[in-house]
Amino acid sequence: EALNRILDIKGSIRVFCRVRPFLLTERRGIHEPVSVDSDKVVVRSVGSRKEFRFDRVFHQSADQDDVFLEVEPVLKSALDGHNGCILAYGQTGTGKTFTMDGLNDQPGIIPRALELLFRQASSASLTFSMSMLEVYMGSLKDLLSPKASARCNLNIQTDPKGMVEIEGLTEVQLPNIAKAKWWYSKGRRCRSTSWTNVNETSSRSHWYGFRGLLLELLRVCNSLMRITISRHGESKQGSRPEASKLWMVDLGGSERLLKTGATGLTLDEGRAINLSLSALGDVVAALRRKRGHVPYRHVLQFLFQMHLFSFLTSHMASEKLFRLSTLCQPDSRLLFNFVLCRNSKLTQILKDSLGHSSKVLMLVNISPCEEDVGETICSLSFSSRAR
Ligand code: ADP
Ligand code: MG
Repeated sequence: EALNRILDIKGSIRVFCRVRPFLLTERRGIHEPVSVDSDKVVVRSVGSRKEFRFDRVFHQSADQDDVFLEVEPVLKSALDGHNGCILAYGQTGTGKTFTMDGLNDQPGIIPRALELLFRQASSASLTFSMSMLEVYMGSLKDLLSPKASARCNLNIQTDPKGMVEIEGLTEVQLPNIAKAKWWYSKGRRCRSTSWTNVNETSSRSHWYGFRGLLLELLRVCNSLMRITISRHGESKQGSRPEASKLWMVDLGGSERLLKTGATGLTLDEGRAINLSLSALGDVVAALRRKRGHVPYRHVLQFLFQMHLFSFLTSHMASEKLFRLSTLCQPDSRLLFNFVLCRNSKLTQILKDSLGHSSKVLMLVNISPCEEDVGETICSLSFSSRAR
């Protein structure tokens, strides 16, 4: 029975990997470190070769159409009344925002999802509403609020049925696709990250000092969109819930933050980091003691691990981390406590959308570049194991 439960959960979480093409400003090496197959990524670096498996791998040449085709099942299931969650994860600059939002002439998952929902909805009695928010350093920002002053510091509530509710979060009705796109672009303009996009290419070089730290801080914003799908008319024997939620999340890479900002940190920040480092040491020691084989029981746990992992990557050399990650079998409770205190808002918000009946799709974005191999391996080894 336990095995069935695992299979059941594993069936509802799928992990894809997408390799970004080289940018015009990037130089290709003599050999390219990352090569891919339809379900496999191979990373070669000096004297080592590592192989990772995914449900699906997108080559550099894959376009937005190819990616969206594989995302559609999650949307269909959301239309059928199941919660869904599409997450983009990976190092900064690897194409998370490109994948989720895209560009005007190459729209990404979110604008395509909106189109699909409205196309399918005309035949059913469905209505849609939208919220957009940002989670940054433990505070929530409402991106669709009419009043700029009312945008910050929303609270999260869990009702007796375990449903998560964000107090005061603006939710707008979407009567048609045009209005949906209008709200979406309004929300995008309010994002803290939007203006840093201008500096996209320069962000690939190394930052120093306060300005760099500031920019990096802005980048670790998690940007979330929630579409609520409500059904009206006669319910089929009351089996389906009346509304389902579809989350589309750009997780904002946190891996670079501490590494990059190290030169510009204040004393307090340094202290806070050292504190979390020693807490981290405790966690790692506890994980080592735990010899039992703990399988990935929980989709929630998966998310927690993801955040723990990005935290780890900012503090350890990737090779060491890789060895460590193969040594220990994570214990869910420890991770839960540790990561929850660090990223509580995000995990709280997504909690009820990662349960049994919800479909979770994780897109891991990676860089094709030699200089990023360390972080590429980190992202891959973590996410392919969680599959
Ligand atoms: P992230 O959100 O992960 O930090 P971005 O989405 O901002 O990364 O991507 C960084 C840069 O790479 C952008 O200029 C983006 O347009 C470009 N890019 C990313 N993925 C692709 C892709 N698949 N095809 C073309 N350009 C891409
Ligand atoms: Mg981004």
